[in-house]
Amino acid sequence: MSLFVMLSVVLALSGGLLIGLTLLFRMPVTEGHRIREEPVKTPKGSKFWRIAVVNSVLSISMVYGLTYLLYGVLFYESAASLWRMLLEGVSILITYDFAYYLVHRYPFHQWQLLRKVHAVHHTVRFPTAYDSLYMHPVENVIGLLLLMLCTFLVGPVSIYSFAGVFVIYSFLNILNHTGLELPFFPFRTISYLSQKHDAHHVSMRSGNYASITPLFDHLFGTAE
Ligand SMILES: [Zn+2]
Ligand SMILES: [Zn+2]
Repeated sequence: MSLFVMLSVVLALSGGLLIGLTLLFRMPVTEGHRIREEPVKTPKGSKFWRIAVVNSVLSISMVYGLTYLLYGVLFYESAASLWRMLLEGVSILITYDFAYYLVHRYPFHQWQLLRKVHAVHHTVRFPTAYDSLYMHPVENVIGLLLLMLCTFLVGPVSIYSFAGVFVIYSFLNILNHTGLELPFFPFRTISYLSQKHDAHHVSMRSGNYASITPLFDHLFGTAE
């Protein structure tokens, strides 16, 4: 299967997950499982949807565009042994988790220029799944470039390793924003990550900067 087909499947599944979890949050059945209730939805209306549509188009274009342009540098087409592909995938994710932790903690929160860019995502005080699309387009570009840079640092990697990484990267970005705590299998771990990221949205001064695992927040004392 080609990498472009696999990425298309992941993008389609991510769209389904985003819509499904947003609807789930609004259903009466999850009423007692919401991390925090939102008094008034902000941002709302046309402004929200304008940014959400821009970011959806931008993400899809960048995923295909960067994959096409950097294909020969980042990937090899064959499947390697399972252990090697696992090692490649875990190496990219750990490198990305650390790189994103640093970018999120310093340029996005502590340095003035990109703080304003990241503040757009923080206008969402009570995140639910579809709020994962609400960010300044520059932040969206930085996130995807960072993923590709980490793939380059580890690579070249098998297209299958990268497809696996892209599933985890895309799904976790959505699952971090569910706004739900569901204390039963298999949602317990996801709910833990959602609660961590929900606490991050409370203020621009909150901790919990990492987006894949809480590892670096615990290592550097920024876990809440
Ligand atoms: Zn932040
Ligand atoms: Zn967020």
